[in-house]
Amino acid sequence: MKIRTDIADMLRNGATQQDIMRTLHVGYKTVTAHRIALRLPTPKRGGHILRPIETEFYARTEPIDGGHLRWAGHHANGVPRLGRQGKHPSAYQVAFQMHHGRKPIGHAKPGCGYPQCVAPAHLEDRPMREQLQSQMNSIFGGAL
Ligand SMILES: [Zn+2]
Repeated sequence: MKIRTDIADMLRNGATQQDIMRTLHVGYKTVTAHRIALRLPTPKRGGHILRPIETEFYARTEPIDGGHLRWAGHHANGVPRLGRQGKHPSAYQVAFQMHHGRKPIGHAKPGCGYPQCVAPAHLEDRPMREQLQSQMNSIFGGAL
């Protein structure tokens, strides 16, 4: 069988079967087959349980007047990032996904004007920015 590196990485990082199934959208059999192929032990019952990503996210934020949210966690290259299981997704991406239930297309960035705001409802991805732009053009295009 072909070993998927994302599944292998999560197994080696001690993620539970449930976490891997939920995070990578794979079935129970797939995870078990990887664990056996990689000769990793069966996860202990009641072992390491990952905190929900929402909990991890809000633990690193501070509310700001106006409904904005300041990132109090780690930054890399000026981008707020959430360190989790050896990965560092941007906090914008995490917040966007929490609010919209899907991954952003292109970069997720705050559209509210507050610098580095990570309020989930304030984040926009590329299609949202393009839609807003075309609405602006149809309202103001030619009139300006
Ligand atoms: Zn904001």
